[in-house]
Amino acid sequence: MAENQGKKMLESAQGLITKTSQKMGLDPQMIKRLVEPEIAHEFSLVISMDSGKKQVFRGWRIQHNSALGPYKGGIRFHRDTVREEVQALATLMSIKCAVAGLPYGGGKGGIAVDPKKLSTTELERLSRAFASKITHFIGEDIDVPAPDVNTTPQIMGWMIDEYQKIIGYKSPATFTGKPIALGGSLGRTEATGRGGLFVLLALLAKLKKKSKGATVAVQGFGNVGYYFARLATEAGFKVVAVSDSKSGVYDKAGVNLEKALKNKKEKGTVAYTKAISNEELLQLDVDILVPAALENVINAQNMSKIKAGIIIEMANGPLTEESYEYLAKKGVIIVPDVLANSGGVTVSYLEWVQGKAGFWWSEKEVNNKLKEMIERAFEVIWKKSVDQKIPLKQAAFETAIERISSAMV
Ligand code: NAD
Repeated sequence: MAENQGKKMLESAQGLITKTSQKMGLDPQMIKRLVEPEIAHEFSLVISMDSGKKQVFRGWRIQHNSALGPYKGGIRFHRDTVREEVQALATLMSIKCAVAGLPYGGGKGGIAVDPKKLSTTELERLSRAFASKITHFIGEDIDVPAPDVNTTPQIMGWMIDEYQKIIGYKSPATFTGKPIALGGSLGRTEATGRGGLFVLLALLAKLKKKSKGATVAVQGFGNVGYYFARLATEAGFKVVAVSDSKSGVYDKAGVNLEKALKNKKEKGTVAYTKAISNEELLQLDVDILVPAALENVINAQNMSKIKAGIIIEMANGPLTEESYEYLAKKGVIIVPDVLANSGGVTVSYLEWVQGKAGFWWSEKEVNNKLKEMIERAFEVIWKKSVDQKIPLKQAAFETAIERISSAMV
């Protein structure tokens, strides 16, 4: 993310918190505490490259708010990562954890690096260097990192190994999103998509609408998009379109996801039948639209062409503020990202609990707990939205701000 975009994202997150808090009549000093990060760490990381030369990378761990519990949030490796972006994401994690009813504050980490340009050994050295840099200000009851864009369970494995070597004892609950062999949780891989589906089912029940045969278009065919599409199909929805960064497919009868995957692997495109562009996918006349790839894909340019009556924000920030307001005013029901994609952090919480207790649940138990927790979170936001006649996003931010501010003494 370029510096300007990072700044915009931060301004937007802070603006939303300020506006909501002012509406709630909070004291200006309290609003300042809700907006500013408690601690922002910025550092350089120096590693030896395979060539024998040293290279320097910029890194951050921003600890936004700890009123409800230890800071929680992923670590992002991206060429365009800047401090403002990391701070914005840390701020939104405070909101998301509070919406999900988790005993966590918000944090986020990042390194400005294009990981595709590193060899595996360089990536391991960089991950270990990051872990060693943050070791003394993280911990299972202080700050609990996790994967994010371009960071994987393998990277979490290197990081926790480095961390435990330095502290001298095992502390599996300090990182989540770990490989199963190192204390990861069953069900974590599918958790975000599964959580989104539980939210959609709860919403349809409130609206007294049927899920069987309801048409769905999913943008993004990665971890979130793929599992959402697969689980929605299993639940009886008709997923008529999916796409990735390079291709899309439309199938009136319902996309054959395995065929799309196979086609992508063999021919580089998911389009085993009628090809569709990403823009066309967003504008399809479907019941439910699920942007599950990138931020800002629904914006001033295409907002008037969106036909779906329900949008589930599975990506972080897929609607710009302008398009959000336009579509909400038009009566489109938009489930905000801080609720819709909170299944990931909820199962991270379950991983943390298991790591602390040294007691492991079956996949079924994890999925059942996820269902119960995310439905509870949805119920509170839905009720507030109906009672106060406000959009779900505003209800989510108000709920989070009430919870965080009441824990700030
Ligand atoms: P991923 O890297 O696994 O998949 C991303 C998908 O988006 C890929 O299919 C990619 O081809 C597609 N994509 C990339 N650029 C695109 C473009 N220009 N147009 C259309 N599609 C494009 O990532 P993910 O983990 O599935 O994350 C997707 C979104 O969900 C991100 O916004 C992420 O922050 C958010 N999210 C993820 C999780 C999680 O647990 N993985 C949790 C919460 C939020």
